[in-house]
Amino acid sequence: MKHQNIPYKIYLTEDEMPKAWYNLRADMQKKPEPMLNPETHQPATLDELSAVFCRELAEQELNTTDAFIEIPEEIRNFYKMYRPAPLVRAYCLEKKLGTPAHIYYKFEGNNTSGSHKLNSAIAQAYYAKKQGLKGVTTETGAGQWGTALSMACSYFDLDCKVFMVKVSYEQKPFRREVMRTYGASVTPSPSESTAVGRKILAEHPGTGGSLGCAVSEAVECAGANEGYRYVLGSVLNQVMLHQSVIGLETKAALDKYGIKADVIIGCAGGGSNLGGLIAPFMGEKLRGEADYRFIAVEPASCPSLTRGAYAYDYCDTGMICPLSKMYTLGCDYIPAPNHAGGLRYHGMNSTLSELYDQKLMEAVSVKQTEVFQAAVDFARIEGILPAPESSHAICVAIKEAMKCKETGETKNIVFGLTGTGYFDMVAYEKHNSGTLTDYVPTDEEIAKALEKLPKLG
Ligand SMILES: *Cc1c(COP(=O)(O)O)cnc(C)c1O
Repeated sequence: MKHQNIPYKIYLTEDEMPKAWYNLRADMQKKPEPMLNPETHQPATLDELSAVFCRELAEQELNTTDAFIEIPEEIRNFYKMYRPAPLVRAYCLEKKLGTPAHIYYKFEGNNTSGSHKLNSAIAQAYYAKKQGLKGVTTETGAGQWGTALSMACSYFDLDCKVFMVKVSYEQKPFRREVMRTYGASVTPSPSESTAVGRKILAEHPGTGGSLGCAVSEAVECAGANEGYRYVLGSVLNQVMLHQSVIGLETKAALDKYGIKADVIIGCAGGGSNLGGLIAPFMGEKLRGEADYRFIAVEPASCPSLTRGAYAYDYCDTGMICPLSKMYTLGCDYIPAPNHAGGLRYHGMNSTLSELYDQKLMEAVSVKQTEVFQAAVDFARIEGILPAPESSHAICVAIKEAMKCKETGETKNIVFGLTGTGYFDMVAYEKHNSGTLTDYVPTDEEIAKALEKLPKLG
């Protein structure tokens, strides 16, 4: 094991890239609770799930026994256009912090969509095409998921209808044009094209829209158009499965240099990127082969793991998807308007929720002012302008590295850098002008949001 000559970037060759996704649930003794049919409250069957998702994706959602699921060659070929993603040794950051810790980050921002979301978008588009569907619908707020899905759909020649929250549509014209460049139709939500949109417009003329409303329109649109499905970019176990490509590559890169990670850190919105990053390492921990600390980082203004309830809830604000047992703040929970840092999803992937409940993973929350400070420090020291979401992980990686400085320990800290922040300059502007503020919900607010959880018999 030689530790001396670790390059700034550890790349894998194409041959070393994963050929199968890793399904962490196969190695869990106590598995996540099954999804429930929202009407009968019985475990959702393959046929029921197939009405909502593509058949093979529904099979992946229900598969808790196969540890490895082959990545179809067409998807592997697409991955080769922007992967392997580099594992970067943050030498400059270590030096600046004066820490004996070794810091590594897996950078997923090296594609036009600017985030890890493309890893699952391409898989979902592939299975939709294979099933003979005409297209998919989705909602997008900030736009990363909509962009990734547009790219994936154009590659497989599928139609892609994106409902974009109207304020974002107007404030983020460049994001919208990227999607249109890839051939997606982008509709500002609420729109006149759906019944739910028309109803909201009649009641609230001039509204800027909301994510919940955009979801409802996307869901209605999929239902009304033969050969269409509504798709989600996180939270589901099928998405976490596709994102395991992040962790598999990370592990292969570390193994290449005989490096053993001690702490693995990721930001947590719906949990798919974090789940994908930690999956193969958590598998080793579950099988008793190695031990690691895993830390999920969430915003203090949307604290599902650290302050939510472990209960069955809707995955989507449109209440069409099956119920999932997860850490949640309630599907109507919306972070305060001053929240600019992303990761605003109300729940958490059910596998990660179960692992957290079994105390196999830790979770912390951070305030957005410290997150943006970490983002700016990182941009200046390591050169990459990080997405606000990714900066949650940077913030905690720096804290862990500073602890090592106090104790003199040479730990290996690995974190996920999920994307770049070029389309988040409004949030950066607030930070740069000193107008960014924190908001931490009170216990009463959280209790009130949790009152809305569905009551199961
Ligand atoms: C969507 C997004 C996230 C959140 O990812 P989850 O897998 O839902 O936790 C994090 N970072 C970036 C850059 C994103 O676009």
